[in-house]
Amino acid sequence: MQWPFSRRAKALTSSAIREILKVTEQPDVISFAGGLPSAATFPVEAMQVATRKVLGEQAESALQYGPSEGLGKLREWIAKEYSRDGAEVRPSQVLLTTGSQQALDLIAKALIDPGSRVLVETPTYLGALQAFSLFEPEYVSVASDEQGLLPEALTPEVIEGARFLYALPNFQNPTGRRLPLARREALAAIAREHDLPIVEDDPYGELDYQGERLASLRSLAPKQVIHLGSFSKVLAPGLRLGYVIADDPLIAKLVQIKQAADLHTPSFTQQVIYEIVSQGFLTGHIPGIRALYAERCRAMLAALEKHMPAGVHWNRPEGGMFIWVTLPESLDSTELLTEAIRERVAFVPGAPFYATAPQPNTLRLSFVTVEPARIGEGIQRLGRLVARQLGG
Ligand code: PMP
Repeated sequence: MQWPFSRRAKALTSSAIREILKVTEQPDVISFAGGLPSAATFPVEAMQVATRKVLGEQAESALQYGPSEGLGKLREWIAKEYSRDGAEVRPSQVLLTTGSQQALDLIAKALIDPGSRVLVETPTYLGALQAFSLFEPEYVSVASDEQGLLPEALTPEVIEGARFLYALPNFQNPTGRRLPLARREALAAIAREHDLPIVEDDPYGELDYQGERLASLRSLAPKQVIHLGSFSKVLAPGLRLGYVIADDPLIAKLVQIKQAADLHTPSFTQQVIYEIVSQGFLTGHIPGIRALYAERCRAMLAALEKHMPAGVHWNRPEGGMFIWVTLPESLDSTELLTEAIRERVAFVPGAPFYATAPQPNTLRLSFVTVEPARIGEGIQRLGRLVARQLGG
């Protein structure tokens, strides 16, 4: 059968890396490749209690169709949480989505025409590039350094005609870097001055190891910023629950688009999550996630220090799930991955995270799903391999 694929479907290619990474599911491979949270942090008991309560007391509405905007009381809860961040959020400004990944798709549908300019970080979240690319934008990669976006790179010529800037200020996927406050303020000032929409994708904001928070872009430019949040990294990603916070006209448009996509986010999931979060569960739960991730991050940093040869560089994240490694320029991390799999260790090559001009000597390490002893072993294997490649 010759399927009559659409132009956009034809443009999709399946990633060679994804194929290579399939083997990482084998138990003897130490994988730093997955972008998954640690299953040890999943709130199994709280889910059991809340599920029983929802089915016992409100099964009818939990199992029925619901509003496209999302469950009213959960929208209220999110609005109240965010209102503490400095800029008030009204429940009407909150839209529940099927993970924040869906929010990226809805935003792309709302704001991107073929050839529209979209500004992204260098590098940026691969899943956002996949969501946006279906709508055929022209990407402009905005210069960034180890602390994130450089506001001075957003010159009037770069901003001209841009539909939005996609930004990840907190513990970015893939680099783990966090944007300093002064840069947030500068970005917000640019957004306000030029009326530049910013999509602020923030699934990792709560995962600051010290428990401190820098002002969100939304709190600094509430009119221009579309904020994306998610329960994936603070509860569990299998729930597929995320949200958008934005001004009313944009939310109204996203609601129309969401109706066409899936009518609404599952009622049952929203009610269960509401039962959990409205009892203050996250206040007790998140510090445990932070402590676990901080410990594993320290273990990986110590192992890198010990096992990586000279000329290899990496950042020291203050939160989140990732470390970004820059190898000497003579090395290509995609080629290295094939060798690494043979040594039973895996990572994600950095190249796919660049919208334009990939840097092949970079790679992403995820440390949260691996026990500290195995982290040491895995980094030792990787260090040996890099040293061998450099030594010729
Ligand atoms: N944005 C970023 C930066 C992410 O890292 C992820 C998850 N890998 C997502 C969005 C999607 O998350 P969700 O599970 O909420 O769809």
